[in-house]
Amino acid sequence: MQFAKPLLAAFALGSMVALPAHAELDVASLKQSIETSFESEYPKLDALYKDIHAHPEIAFEEEKTAAKLAAEMRAIGFEVTEKVGKTGLVALYKNGDGPTIMVRTELDALPMEEKTGLPYASRDKTIWQERETFVTHSCGHDIHMASWVGTAKTLVGLKDQWKGTLMFIAQPAEEVVAGARAMLADGLFTRFPKPDAGFALHAGVFPYGFVGYRVGVGWSNEDGLYIKFEGRGGHGAMPQATIDPVMMASRFVVDAQSVISREKDPTEFGVVSIGSLHAGTADNIIPDEAVLLGTIRTFNPDVRAKMHDGIERTAKAVAAMANAPAPDIKITEGTKAVVNDAAVVATAEKVLKAAFGDKFRVTPPLTPSEDFSEYINAGVPSMMFNIGVYELEKWAAANKSGTPLPGNHSPLFAPVPKPTIQTGVTAMTLAVLSAFDQRAKGQ
Ligand SMILES: [Zn+2]
Ligand SMILES: [Zn+2]
Repeated sequence: MQFAKPLLAAFALGSMVALPAHAELDVASLKQSIETSFESEYPKLDALYKDIHAHPEIAFEEEKTAAKLAAEMRAIGFEVTEKVGKTGLVALYKNGDGPTIMVRTELDALPMEEKTGLPYASRDKTIWQERETFVTHSCGHDIHMASWVGTAKTLVGLKDQWKGTLMFIAQPAEEVVAGARAMLADGLFTRFPKPDAGFALHAGVFPYGFVGYRVGVGWSNEDGLYIKFEGRGGHGAMPQATIDPVMMASRFVVDAQSVISREKDPTEFGVVSIGSLHAGTADNIIPDEAVLLGTIRTFNPDVRAKMHDGIERTAKAVAAMANAPAPDIKITEGTKAVVNDAAVVATAEKVLKAAFGDKFRVTPPLTPSEDFSEYINAGVPSMMFNIGVYELEKWAAANKSGTPLPGNHSPLFAPVPKPTIQTGVTAMTLAVLSAFDQRAKGQ
């Protein structure tokens, strides 16, 4: 997934406020313990992060990455099951009677070339869709993995503070939104316990030390669009003898945007973008078909249904205008919106506000999509939050200059490892502890 501009506004610099005290968990002393443990563990986490960064693997090929994480988790004392959902991992740590709390990381990288020039930059290649390509951790999933291992280690070190089961899962293929489904189909919540609460984090383009969160929709619904317009081919100089599919496709690309501007409530988010349009072979031949591929993004299920309806009607109407057969329309469900649970967020919020103060902020929903939603829709109340990756001064200067620092999926995306992973470990450890604490009280 990838982040967009609204985060800039949410992380505009404000004045620091005094840290409120948390009445129940002693957050200040826990934060201190977490930071002390992190400091002594960091050299190992740094080596793990840089190794994973330098040797990324794409969706469903994350065998070496998964093996590295499995070894780390076994060394901490987790019981690890490999090859869940092809290359996924499930690591359990039982610590008496209590709830099961899940923490997810992703394993996969992207088929693109890294251009950061970092000493640990990836030069690895693979075959992707029948072509050789470089592979790069440009979404930050390597940051997530290091934070995940660091959180596991920290929580085991703090095991006198909680009772229950830690369920740490490492998911393949998030970038193609298929890995969560693969793990669920392979018995994630039947062969293993079904968690009482779940957490995930994502690295984003804002300063390290800051954490962004929200209740409700955090990431969008994503659906794929395929349309084939069938016409009747012929000579480019004799259009009267043809039904021109290029005309139909062109008209559709323009008219589909009126579904956004005229049918959808303008205060609701909705996007349809056509990313691929193929027709014809030569300048003087009217082809017999045109194929379009696009993506549809929404937050709200009613808006989603309305957009699907409007897009289908527009495609059919365009074909009818041309006296062509009805087009072949396929809208394939990608993944549903990530909807953060109000109660899980409220519990974590108290603790994270106490720990991070004004650096823990509500952020707007993000327009990309994330298949963490699959676990939520399978019945696990959850919270997914964002952590910043860049030095505050550089980030602020770049925004001021009008050229923001490189974002997720950019070949230049370059998180600062230590403070970013530290924020991930601290925030995730406290979030998990808050969930154990809340459940222990039976609330
Ligand atoms: Zn991504
Ligand atoms: Zn991602």
